[in-house]
Amino acid sequence: MITHSSLEDGFAGLQKLHQLISSKEIQLAGNRKLRIYGTLTCSSGKRMKKENRVFFSSEEEAIEMGYRCCRNCWCRQKKNNDKKTVEL
Ligand SMILES: [Zn+2]
Repeated sequence: MITHSSLEDGFAGLQKLHQLISSKEIQLAGNRKLRIYGTLTCSSGKRMKKENRVFFSSEEEAIEMGYRCCRNCWCRQKKNNDKKTVEL
């Protein structure tokens, strides 16, 4: 699990984030306060505060940390296609 606040502010942090996403070290985003995880493109994820945002490399990792899937995106996608990968 990677917390968003552990990344640098501004462009350097953003660059690092994109690097982690392209290397598949980050595949899911979560809310630390609500203990919910979802896709990186989730609209409810975009609204959350940076200090509450965390990133996971896999669904297993998120579940292991005690997070449950976001109702807005992930569960619905899973129902339709269990093997669907996260699209950016
Ligand atoms: Zn969602």
